[in-house]
Amino acid sequence: MLLAAPCFALPETVGEALTALADRPDAIVVAGGTEVMPDLLWRNRRAAGFVSLRRVGALRGTTTVGGELVIGAGTPVAALTGAPDAGLRAAASSLGTPLVRTEATIGGNVVSALPYRNLLPTLLAGGATLELTSATGTRVVPFDGFVTAPGRTRLAEDELLTAVRLPVPTGFADYAKVGRRNAQFVATVSVAITCRDGAVRLAFGNAGPTPLRADAVDTAATALFAHRATAEDLRAAVAAAVDPPEDTIASAAYRRHALGVLTVRLVTRAQGAAA
Ligand SMILES: Cc1cc2nc3c(=O)[nH]c(=O)nc-3n(C[C@H](O)[C@H](O)[C@H](O)COP(=O)(O)OP(=O)(O)OC[C@H]3O[C@@H](n4cnc5c(N)ncnc54)[C@H](O)[C@@H]3O)c2cc1C
Repeated sequence: MLLAAPCFALPETVGEALTALADRPDAIVVAGGTEVMPDLLWRNRRAAGFVSLRRVGALRGTTTVGGELVIGAGTPVAALTGAPDAGLRAAASSLGTPLVRTEATIGGNVVSALPYRNLLPTLLAGGATLELTSATGTRVVPFDGFVTAPGRTRLAEDELLTAVRLPVPTGFADYAKVGRRNAQFVATVSVAITCRDGAVRLAFGNAGPTPLRADAVDTAATALFAHRATAEDLRAAVAAAVDPPEDTIASAAYRRHALGVLTVRLVTRAQGAAA
């Protein structure tokens, strides 16, 4: 049977979850299950067991600590549609459907590590860090560099992602994605922006094998924001920085073009918000 599994652990604390994982290192961690279940069904992936995070209350909810939003990894995406960060709100609001957003978690989105996942560009543009916890303690790593390849991260086998930290927003933030349709479709490409004290920072989804940003793009965007460069300059900087995939959904040329259009649109919105 496809989903037959010899073990299903339902821990109630992070410690219990880590113990369950240590007992069965080949078990799959499940948060909302909206990635894991389709994976099991469509890719015929077999599981030796599951460690569900559903009952680990400490992983849910957002607090503000020392100038940062600390978002528990098990926080549902639906809760982020009311987040104080406008970029995160926009990215969460366009993820899946209301039903998917109720089950899907921020942690699952991050660890799935696919370049078209909604929340990843927002975390990259916002300068997020991640709390990774094992039996020996918690380390905090930048989100920038956490995803090493599609579906691959720096998370160790004995670690759980326990929280995502994002600086409390002080300026403009937004997110835009292009898909085949507006609802229930992953991003063909996506762009996230923050603009603080005139400094623009951008990050791209599905513009390469991992979430991507580039200093040259930020320099061109900051210049456009200050009316010291043209939209054409920024589009050229974006086109030079990205390396989008070519697949049945869109060509690399279309993606490169769309990334330029979305980027200029978001910088224009930032200018409007500052005016
Ligand atoms: C109909 C549908 C539409 C969708 N639309 C979108 C969309 O528009 N945009 C988008 O980005 N995604 C979309 N998704 C994908 C999915 O909903 C999201 O990626 C979601 O955020 C995954 O969260 P989850 O809690 O369900 O992850 P799960 O399926 O539980 O887990 C995903 C992966 O992360 C690991 N994991 C989860 N939590 C942790 C943790 N705390 N520590 C370590 N590992 C962990 C799991 O082992 C697994 O490998 C869609 C899915 C469906 C079914």
